[in-house]
Amino acid sequence: MVWRQWEVEKKIRETDDVVTFVVKRIDDRLVKTSLPGQYVTVVMPMPDGVRQPRQYSLTRADDGQHRQFSVRWAHGRGKPDGEMSSLLHNTVDVGDVVTMSLPYGDVVLDDSGRPVVFASAGVGITPMAGMLSHLATAGSGLEVMLLHADVDEASFALRRQVVTDVLALRKASIHVWYEQGTGSNEPMTGGPRRDDGPVPGDAARRRRVLPMRADPVHAGRANRVDRARGRSPRHPIRSVRPRPMASRSRLAS
Ligand SMILES: Cc1cc2nc3c(=O)[nH]c(=O)nc-3n(C[C@H](O)[C@H](O)[C@H](O)COP(=O)(O)OP(=O)(O)OC[C@H]3O[C@@H](n4cnc5c(N)ncnc54)[C@H](O)[C@@H]3O)c2cc1C
Repeated sequence: MVWRQWEVEKKIRETDDVVTFVVKRIDDRLVKTSLPGQYVTVVMPMPDGVRQPRQYSLTRADDGQHRQFSVRWAHGRGKPDGEMSSLLHNTVDVGDVVTMSLPYGDVVLDDSGRPVVFASAGVGITPMAGMLSHLATAGSGLEVMLLHADVDEASFALRRQVVTDVLALRKASIHVWYEQGTGSNEPMTGGPRRDDGPVPGDAARRRRVLPMRADPVHAGRANRVDRARGRSPRHPIRSVRPRPMASRSRLAS
């Protein structure tokens, strides 16, 4: 059965415009296992009575009881606000029931064992957080590098979870670029740096920091990663290409 009801156990304010929902199963069926990077579809009745579906990346590995996803409020900025994100932010609370699909999505971490580079910006951190959580839960020794761009540290959703998972992984590092300021309370491997250049850096910088033969995974919404690549995003997960990157193998210190 694709659809199932879940009860909101926690609603966590991550940043000014991102909240995380932790939902718990309320029936006795086993919870279908998710793959790292998958998303669920949430269906909610809108104020006009229409049931609307929206997709949200799973941001934490399975524990057999819960699912976790994070939602950025889609400000209208003069136009209508986003329907589902407004409803989830303003109306849905602890104890409420939401309808969610099974996990879907083919853009998942594979089991090749190759090093992996995650590049994200803003709410594009969500699939990365899910993948990192799976790796940390598995005690993975995979070489992992997370490159993340955001407005500032306070805007970095899921920051504490992501940093904790990176620290738990034996061969992982995190590098951040902030548009405003370089202040950080987190033990970032390679930063934070001022966001004064393309993300994640020019070719020379990429050669210095990226591990050899890494699988690149990048995600973000109308963000600097996509702008740096000179194209506009249509899907929050841009690509996962299992092909080698031309770079020397050295992690930034
Ligand atoms: C695979 C996948 C994974 C995703 N994962 C996440 C995730 O982890 N977290 C997350 O936050 N999002 C994620 N998304 C995006 C999410 O599914 C929704 O698209 C997002 O929450 C916006 O939905 P909404 O109903 O709030 O906005 P919508 O109502 O769909 O509106 C979309 C945008 O259009 C604007 N708009 C609305 N009406 C008008 C109008 N009349 N004129 C001009 N503009 C208008 C809104 O302001 C908004 O910016 C994911 C999407 C996909 C496909």
